[in-house]
Amino acid sequence: MHYDYLIVGAGLYGAVFAHEARLHNKSVLVIDKRTNIAGNVYTEKIEGINVHKYGAHIFHTNNTEVWNYIQQFATFNRFTNSPVANYHGELYSLPFNMYTFNKMWGVVTPEEAAAKIEEQRREAGITEPKNLEEQAISLVGTDIYEKLIKGYTEKQWGRPCTELPAFIIKRLPVRLTFDNNYFNALYQGIPVGGYTKMVANMLDGIQVELNQDYFADREKWNGLADKVVYTGPIDAYFDYKLGTLEYRSVRFETEVLDKPNFQGNAAVNYTDRETPWTRIIEHKWFEFGKDENGNDLPKTVISREYSSEWKPGDEPYYPVNDKKNGDLYQEYKKLGDAEEKVIFGGRLGEYKYYDMDQVIAAALKKANEELR
Ligand code: UDP
Repeated sequence: MHYDYLIVGAGLYGAVFAHEARLHNKSVLVIDKRTNIAGNVYTEKIEGINVHKYGAHIFHTNNTEVWNYIQQFATFNRFTNSPVANYHGELYSLPFNMYTFNKMWGVVTPEEAAAKIEEQRREAGITEPKNLEEQAISLVGTDIYEKLIKGYTEKQWGRPCTELPAFIIKRLPVRLTFDNNYFNALYQGIPVGGYTKMVANMLDGIQVELNQDYFADREKWNGLADKVVYTGPIDAYFDYKLGTLEYRSVRFETEVLDKPNFQGNAAVNYTDRETPWTRIIEHKWFEFGKDENGNDLPKTVISREYSSEWKPGDEPYYPVNDKKNGDLYQEYKKLGDAEEKVIFGGRLGEYKYYDMDQVIAAALKKANEELR
């Protein structure tokens, strides 16, 4: 059998591209080295709870086209992400909003909060933020930086905040309102029944072979198709010949607890430097603690997340988008652009800190260019 497209990786990018190619009557084979589809959005049912095996994924977007597009694969619930920050047992509201400012400083009005932030920014003497630390202080002041950002970020990235790019912290909204929604997004939710089901719907009618390592026999796989859509790490594709791009990896310690409620929220971030994990996810709260028939679940499943530097053999999760890695990626991209038969896509293929909606948008754009 010969295919129009071989798709390496059954995550979101690969699944969207595969779906589109099939709609255009192309023949498609999807392979993945894991024994499951859905890449890092994979969810698995434990004790009736959809567990986000590779970290919490909360779908959110401002892109109406993407939102409309995914409705064909899943129904989304009304989950809104409102994490809690735990700093040595002191609890704060996230994102940074009036509840956070009130707890931190006792301020009551938006004007008082703004004045407090302005005062701390002035004292720090920052005009043009050059790194994450300066960006954070200029957004929310020194106290919030010290208690809610510095420790978390240094655990998450394994680097001092002064060596990290400012844009990472701009993901977090700062609001002078009591809105606890973590995302500035028009649309948000969790697919009912889990992400695996959503991706399975994308791949409906498409040949998928799991437990297949592309690198174990590249010649064979490449020989099967006219074109390859590769969604793995771009540096691995080129045998790391220009050096390795850095990634952060995450280790999860998942536990089933014989109680209905552990922390009362889907996400609690541990923002001090001393607690070794970055956050604890209690998966049932993504679906309001209910099973599909609306019944309360007697048990709960929690995952502690530990961030670590990626080394060969680990799963890569986050690209480290600093200058050094950005420059190296550009070199790999040149090599990638010269591979006429191959499309590189997704968080790993493009070495980008993409959110799910951005991955879907990128896959749709590429598919439109390719298939029109
Ligand atoms: N962040 C922080 N404190 C928090 C949560 C996030 O300082 O309690 C910072 C941290 O630098 C992190 C970034 O904000 O890398 C983005 O966080 P987000 O939750 O968007 O990251 P993700 O969910 O992709 O891990």
